[in-house]
Amino acid sequence: MFMRRIQPLFVFLLLFVFTAIACAAPKNVILFIGDGMGHAHIAAARISTLGQGGRLTIEKMPVTGMHTTHSANALVTDSAAGATALACGVKTNNYTVSKSPDGRRVRSILEASRTIGKATGVVTTTSVTDATPAAFTSHVDERGMQPEIAGQQLDVNIDVLMGGGRAYFLPEGDDGYRSDSRNLLSEAAAKGYIVVTTAEELNKVNSGRVLGLFAMEKLTTQSPEPSLSEMTKKAIQILSQDTDGFFLMVEGGQIDSYAHRNDLDGMVRQLIEFDKAVAEGLSFAQQNGDTLVVVTADHETGGLTLLSDDEGNLGPSWSTGGHSGIMVPVFAFGPESQRFTGLMDNTDISKKIGAVWGVKVGLFDVSDDDKTADSVRIKHEYSKSAAVAASSTR
Ligand SMILES: [Zn+2]
Repeated sequence: MFMRRIQPLFVFLLLFVFTAIACAAPKNVILFIGDGMGHAHIAAARISTLGQGGRLTIEKMPVTGMHTTHSANALVTDSAAGATALACGVKTNNYTVSKSPDGRRVRSILEASRTIGKATGVVTTTSVTDATPAAFTSHVDERGMQPEIAGQQLDVNIDVLMGGGRAYFLPEGDDGYRSDSRNLLSEAAAKGYIVVTTAEELNKVNSGRVLGLFAMEKLTTQSPEPSLSEMTKKAIQILSQDTDGFFLMVEGGQIDSYAHRNDLDGMVRQLIEFDKAVAEGLSFAQQNGDTLVVVTADHETGGLTLLSDDEGNLGPSWSTGGHSGIMVPVFAFGPESQRFTGLMDNTDISKKIGAVWGVKVGLFDVSDDDKTADSVRIKHEYSKSAAVAASSTR
């Protein structure tokens, strides 16, 4: 009925408009998250490696902005609420992973991108079950439920998952933390994943779905593990084979850990490695021409201030061993990157990526989208004892 009433010319016009919109949108999106990376962390990395006049790769990106980081119940967010905001466009309570404050699951940009056929990937230097990667790939009440998170990560049918955290995929009998005796590495292999645990094995992989878990818990970020930039390059190589495009999240997960310890040198090493990973993303984006790259943080860690010591050298001053409540930077490059300028909120990042692709993040009605319901369904019962065994640092 509806179609018969529309003039053919109008249909052509609509097609033209939709095609124009579709062409403007980038085929691929790579979101880089430096956990705990505030303005002072970037400045400290720049000054101590390149001098005051130097520029890190991140700092050369053409579009810049900022976002506010508070969570639903605190001025100072933790990484779970921060990542939920970045992944799902929803503010939640600290320690909650991709659920609203009233306990409803909220859809992440990774899950949303699957509904339009995108290949998806997550890469981190910490455990893949830690808060930031978890927010893109699972929904749990408390971030410590890492065995449950690992199970959900297989259910979400992600194409590339790389980092540490192998213990959460293995049963207690195999030195793992799972009390339910499931071996998720075997289950992943049975689902068609190529499971790798060393850099050498990863080097041999050129296509397919990949689960790469290079340490029992978070990575050492030292050889013989693959570096963050090597994992990023490999993830892009694999995901870019999908003709529908891809969504990839890459986390520099230990900028935060060293900042918690107020260890400037360690923090700078992690940030420089993160900057190299961003360089891999930008180099692909520059050649490809159809990739949006966004770099940001979930919060600032350490309350870092840069002062000058008596000799005029960099004299860092930390105000806390925890997180602070200040704004964090956003950098962007590629098609639609101009959307990521000005002062934003942490919830705006995935909403903007979703808007670019015409998909919705956050609360949704499962009946609207059966494919999404499928992608976020939880098959496994949460095992309380497993989570207790796995309870780890924040
Ligand atoms: Zn932290």
